[in-house]
Amino acid sequence: MQPAQEFGDNPVEVRETGHYTEEYVPSFVEKWDSLIDWEKRADSEGNFFIDLLRKWGVKSVLDVATGTGFHSVRLLAAGFDTVSADGSADMLAMAFENGTKQGGHILRVVQADWRWLNRDVHGEYDAIVCLGNSFTHLFSERDRRKALAEFYAMLKHDGILVLDQRNYDAILDDGYTSKHTYYYCGEDVTVEPEYVDEGLCRMRYHFPDDSVYHLNMFPLRKDYTRRLMSEVGFQRVETYGDFQHTYRGEQPDFFVHVAQKE
Ligand code: SAM
Repeated sequence: MQPAQEFGDNPVEVRETGHYTEEYVPSFVEKWDSLIDWEKRADSEGNFFIDLLRKWGVKSVLDVATGTGFHSVRLLAAGFDTVSADGSADMLAMAFENGTKQGGHILRVVQADWRWLNRDVHGEYDAIVCLGNSFTHLFSERDRRKALAEFYAMLKHDGILVLDQRNYDAILDDGYTSKHTYYYCGEDVTVEPEYVDEGLCRMRYHFPDDSVYHLNMFPLRKDYTRRLMSEVGFQRVETYGDFQHTYRGEQPDFFVHVAQKE
């Protein structure tokens, strides 16, 4: 029997940084990866991140939110010296397997929670990437500051942090009544906010076999994330709107922040 997601009697009260390891159960992750195949995902994302890192002269990258390895594998294939970290051992196991399947890449994986990154990962990097709307899993400002400070410390003096996030301003400001539904890569996977307040966005993932999963996330406002990055010491933060990986009308679905250490 595979473990099921556990949110208890009152799921909207689950607002805890450490809960992510119980949300990414293997059946959810396997389904996601099999439906949104990597080729389609790569087509819709294009070379945005690869081009960006090359533009900055990056050679070494620490992927702190490896997940099932999509970005780590793309980075390795593009020639970046890449280390793949994640707080979930299940995710890293899947990423390692995916790496060997997709082009025979041997991922260098390290299990590490961002709040204690320096304890478990060694070295300094030209870039740290935290992609796929991952930073949203941190539920307290203290944890967000701690994680950003850990990222900052692991960058070389001229390094950059590339961190993306969903456009939560659109969800929060349009109110709970106008629901947003996201259709992924043309597949029948729908993602929509089931509950929203300033401290929680509970997303519902519906798959074509009628299975349903949830993720509880903190709805980061764009300017708030930018401010935190500046406050922990990043000198400049540039924010891009989207690389079109889903379609949702005029507003971007995602923001990508590029924070410079010097
Ligand atoms: N970047 C991948 C992608 O785009 O497919 C994975 C994104 S997935 C939404 C978020 C990942 O962040 C998960 O693998 C989760 O285990 C990891 N994560 C969440 N909070 C974390 C934390 N505090 N420390 C380390 N990893 C964390």
